[in-house]
Amino acid sequence: MDTYEFVNKIKNNEIDIVEHTHKVIEECKKINKEYNYLNVISEELALEQAKNIKKSIKNKENIKNKKLLGVAVSVKDSICVKNVESAAGSRILKGYKPLFDATVIKKAKEQGAIIIGKTSQDEFGFGGFSVNVGLSFKIPKNPFDKQRSCGGSSGGTAGITQKASFPHIALGESTGGSIAEPSSFCGVFGLCPTYGRVSRYGLIDYANSLDKIGPMGKSLQEVALLQETISGFDQNESTTINKPADNYTDFTNKKIKNVKIGIIKEAFENIDNKVNKKTLEGIKKLEEAGVKTEEVSLKMPIKYGLATYYMLATSEASTNLAKYCGMRYGISEKLEGNFNEYFTKVRSSNFSAEAKRRIILGTFARMSGYRDAYYIKATKVRTKIVEEYKKLFKKYDALISPTVPILPPKFSEIEKLTPLQQYMIDAITVSPNVAGLPHLNVPVGFENNLPVGMLLTADHLEEGKLIQLGSLFEKN
Ligand code: GLN
Repeated sequence: MDTYEFVNKIKNNEIDIVEHTHKVIEECKKINKEYNYLNVISEELALEQAKNIKKSIKNKENIKNKKLLGVAVSVKDSICVKNVESAAGSRILKGYKPLFDATVIKKAKEQGAIIIGKTSQDEFGFGGFSVNVGLSFKIPKNPFDKQRSCGGSSGGTAGITQKASFPHIALGESTGGSIAEPSSFCGVFGLCPTYGRVSRYGLIDYANSLDKIGPMGKSLQEVALLQETISGFDQNESTTINKPADNYTDFTNKKIKNVKIGIIKEAFENIDNKVNKKTLEGIKKLEEAGVKTEEVSLKMPIKYGLATYYMLATSEASTNLAKYCGMRYGISEKLEGNFNEYFTKVRSSNFSAEAKRRIILGTFARMSGYRDAYYIKATKVRTKIVEEYKKLFKKYDALISPTVPILPPKFSEIEKLTPLQQYMIDAITVSPNVAGLPHLNVPVGFENNLPVGMLLTADHLEEGKLIQLGSLFEKN
């Protein structure tokens, strides 16, 4: 049963939403025992919402237009849900229950979505394998092989999306690839929208100039439905774009006519052969559907994207994390010593090693004396990267590449990687993020029983085109 059918059945009272939600929660608990996808299962909230929906149906209230009525939505831990612990996967935020809903949650609830829990992630989004979970959190395991990574940082989000047997959509977040990457490793669709298309109000920041909230789903129809729900201007968020959003669901049946795609040459260098092969098969499918393709070069973004991204992202992260001092949010410890002593104690014992590495790196990059050479330089390269993309989008509707250079690795393999080698997993996804461009992971099949994803990138605000192209894979 697809999500549309499900929503209609709920509206027509053919499914008892309270009974259904009980089953959903039971399944989440069962999955979680084995796979660690949810930091919190918000059972109380979910059942309360279900009961309210049941009441509305009984009282014949107007529910006709509610697009997500009764649909389970899981939420990356870094997105605030009122009265539900929202810790961004960090022990320093343990116990933090927001007094408000993020705008995306408010919008999803207005459409009747049921919030089932907070998904596991790398602490504050710092990672590509979801192994940098904060102290006292659990590492999510790949749905196809428990010895392997779900990708990151929205690892739990992608995992539960693949594993849930009930109608479900997820909200993920990407700073440098955290929607596309885990979607690729878990074999689901993941859409990272244009920067500013979706409000970040209520998102626990990683890097403000890069963060985007976006949907993940087993089908692209579901992704389109949630994207439609959460898009748009928000008075509370000054970087949201003041333009109406498209009806993204309409793009799932739109005919492909005169579409031209650029195949990014450099993105196929230095990648796993199996990923290469599957991506080429995906491209062939597009060509068979009438899409014209041409090889293009994207030098600057592929060569300098990673360095630019890590300078910008850590610089912003290091300032964002300054507010966690054990006083305002989350964890607090016995008040002792002067402020500096207390602050040091709380931060030393509650941030993980990776968070500390990024604070040090980011602080260095924007320190006086180094600022021009690192942070300011990175902002300039960012402009160049945007320009190179913009030039290509004058000629092409979208660009195509693999999403991740490798198949999901084993945890034992990740342990052997240096931090820099870990950062390199983002080689392909960072640049669209640096440029604020919408991009979509499309599952193209399996190699060694592990999913492979292909990345489609489009010009700003062209999410519809991505959905249109990705839909070819849904139908196939
Ligand atoms: N892996 C990248 C990083 O560690 C991207 C993470 C993200 O998008 N949140 O920064």
